[in-house]
Amino acid sequence: MQHPSSEYYNGVTYIAYQGHHEDAYVCAYNHNEEKWYGPYRAGVSLLGDEFPEIDNHGRPTLVVSNDGYIHLFYGGHGGIKEFGENTFGNTHKGKQIHVVSKYPEDITEWEELPNVSPFGTYNQTVKMDNGDIYLFYRHGGHKSHWTYQKSTDNGRTFSDEVIILWHKIRQDAPNIHDAWYAWFDKGFGNTIIATYNYHLCAEVNHGAYRYNCYYMMMNCSDGTWENAAGHTLSIPITKEYADQNTLVYNSSTTNTRREVCNVDANGNPSVTFRLDSSEYELYFTRWNGTNWETPVRPDRSAKNSAGLMFKSPSEIDMLIYGKDNGIGNISWWHTDNTGLSWTKVQTLLSSGTAKHGMSTRTRNAHPDGQFVFYEKDLTDPENLYCKMYLWGKSGFLTRYSETTVGFQVETVKSEFDDKIKIYPNPVKSNKQLFVTIDAPFMGNEINLSVINLLGQKLIEEKIQSNNSVLNVKVLPSASVYILCVTIGNETIIEKLTIE
Ligand code: ZN
Repeated sequence: MQHPSSEYYNGVTYIAYQGHHEDAYVCAYNHNEEKWYGPYRAGVSLLGDEFPEIDNHGRPTLVVSNDGYIHLFYGGHGGIKEFGENTFGNTHKGKQIHVVSKYPEDITEWEELPNVSPFGTYNQTVKMDNGDIYLFYRHGGHKSHWTYQKSTDNGRTFSDEVIILWHKIRQDAPNIHDAWYAWFDKGFGNTIIATYNYHLCAEVNHGAYRYNCYYMMMNCSDGTWENAAGHTLSIPITKEYADQNTLVYNSSTTNTRREVCNVDANGNPSVTFRLDSSEYELYFTRWNGTNWETPVRPDRSAKNSAGLMFKSPSEIDMLIYGKDNGIGNISWWHTDNTGLSWTKVQTLLSSGTAKHGMSTRTRNAHPDGQFVFYEKDLTDPENLYCKMYLWGKSGFLTRYSETTVGFQVETVKSEFDDKIKIYPNPVKSNKQLFVTIDAPFMGNEINLSVINLLGQKLIEEKIQSNNSVLNVKVLPSASVYILCVTIGNETIIEKLTIE
């Protein structure tokens, strides 16, 4: 998931994700109606079809502008050379695309707004309290500067690019480029915080060499940057300058991955990063006003972090993806001693056969819709789909009366399961499908619908008698569909295969 991929606005949580063929999809949960809408395809990515292998860069980042329009930025992995010369770096694949909903607070129809560079990778949006939108991204392939473009008119126009992290060929080694991986988020008040690592980008024997951990903060009132000590930085930042002024942790020759950062009420930042030594090791450190403290590993099982949230400068909650004896889990961890020690307090998802990922916290989150998680089944390598979850203080917001919110559902056992018969299943596309409901349920209203794996409803019918024939000839192709039978408040889900 790109970050941020969800935002709460006027009663609704909007969620963007990368769906079928790497395209950008949006779904929405209306908290008052307790109802899901979508998903709808908001735009097509060049990365889905253009290449023989799947390129899942270009995941969408979402922002709702203050006039209620929903914006997505997606589809970029440096941009193909056909878009012209990239004066900020090199070109690679795809196209960074900006789409906006045609109408406010409506995800059904979308149009492209060609007002940002096609060369973006890892785009991230930050929205300020006054409605200004910042779009950060790497301006091309690896060998490119990191830049931002700013909009002060709800995303209708964007400023020219401002370079913040500088890419260059190393003087001491002409076949090595200084490159970066960066993460941006809203800080305290009118500030933006950033954590990043260095990428040693070699022309020969290229590898995913990433080192160190850095932190800095932008004052949005005048566009200046400062380090944790409050010293003003001169941008763009070079590798040598970063080592002297913004370094959080020197990993020497051990690989790192940038994680997340946040700022407490005193303005002191905390940062997490991952060390990739013999195993993945998550570390937390905070600026104590004078220096970065010795990084702490919350636990041997801890691998990735999200949702670093301060209750007070000493009390912090953090979502951690961990792996205990092969069981992956997303759990809340807590410290009440400024991060010196951490305790796991609540596990939200866990599995020994699936991989999980976490978004950052929903922007302006409703208490019931705070984090989006994905779950990928590792037992079936042919299945490229993931389940998605929206989690909040009431647990997971369900759809189809079970815990997935996405487009892939499994058969759910219920007391009604043996009261409904669907046959034949699989069914040939030119044959009839019979649905039989046991007599005791005939007094209720019974709704039948067929949904494709993208969540689009293709057939909807009310059952009038206890024997109903569903005309599956209208379905577009042989595929797997989801049949939902709703009786009163209960929904039965069946996987329907059309041959
Ligand atoms: Zn590289």
